[in-house]
Amino acid sequence: MARANLGGNRMRELRAVNLDQITEGIRRATRPVSILWQADDTLAFVARGREHRSEFHSDPVDEVMYMIRGDMDLHYRTPEGEEKIAVIREGEIIYCPAGVPHSPRFAPDAFVLVLERKRRGDERDKFSWFCEKCGGVVYESVKHVTDYNADPVSRVYEEFYGTEQNRTCSGCGHVTPRPPGR
Ligand SMILES: [Zn+2]
Repeated sequence: MARANLGGNRMRELRAVNLDQITEGIRRATRPVSILWQADDTLAFVARGREHRSEFHSDPVDEVMYMIRGDMDLHYRTPEGEEKIAVIREGEIIYCPAGVPHSPRFAPDAFVLVLERKRRGDERDKFSWFCEKCGGVVYESVKHVTDYNADPVSRVYEEFYGTEQNRTCSGCGHVTPRPPGR
């Protein structure tokens, strides 16, 4: 008997994920991120906070953040270039529209659940650093994020802190210092 086409891997068994188990796993791991799933129209991951987070991330897709444990200061920039902070407390959820440059700052013992969707072929993510002296753009890295397992945030931090040239403001010459331990 011919088998019906059940839509390939869409017909896998459906299984729930326990967020407490995920955060415990990340706490013991060196990787700061655990990917829950990556599908065309939805992807989800849990991340712990990173110390000295300084870049602003501008995604081509909407993002929803839910604080599982601890609080977050979500720095973001208005279209006029003003920096603002939205505080997300434990148990609170926030919507960050596509294209808003944002910098999620929270402690390594705090955990966020992030919901987005997979990038299309022509969509790019932008990671920007701004000068603490003059406010101009110091460095920008544009990436096609194909797989969150590759930890794209860690890769752009290696780029930025890897050379003094990338950390030097072309406007005023100020060099963004390396944080301790980088
Ligand atoms: Zn500057």
